[in-house]
Amino acid sequence: MAETGKTIRLEVITPDAAVLNEDVNFVLVRALDGDLGILPNHAPLIASLSIWPLEYEQQGQRQAITIAKGFLEVSNNTITVITPAAEKPGDIDVRRAQAAKDRAEKRLSDLNSNIDVERATLALQRALRRIDVAKKYGGQ
Ligand code: ATP
Repeated sequence: MAETGKTIRLEVITPDAAVLNEDVNFVLVRALDGDLGILPNHAPLIASLSIWPLEYEQQGQRQAITIAKGFLEVSNNTITVITPAAEKPGDIDVRRAQAAKDRAEKRLSDLNSNIDVERATLALQRALRRIDVAKKYGGQ
């Protein structure tokens, strides 16, 4: 049972699913203009998120979930993250992320190709963060 005043609700929603819905003690996210630490009963807030893992503490344990841009809102002791893609560490397919990383790096290193550099850069960032989170927090 969550202790009132010591936890804040964390909801992470993607177009496909509600990926996370937990009572947590602390959240750390990377907004476009810097890192944001959020404790229970934080003041209302809206922020745009980067491609960077959201870390959170729950019952003394540090955990993480990948986030690929999107928005965060804090209101009524609830943090709502709406993002195009989010994966828990155990749901990350490391081989898929490695393949995406290799593909993006190949595209970016081929100077003659007529590629969309921004798109390849974002794909590389998503892949790198997935690999990091799986390694650090235990993927397959
Ligand atoms: P890929 O090229 O492998 O599809 P991507 O970065 O283009 O990677 P996204 O567009 O960010 O993929 O995500 C599409 C969907 O696939 C999302 O639901 C996302 O959570 C999921 N997804 C992408 N990569 C992985 C992965 N390595 N492991 C688990 N789920 C993934």
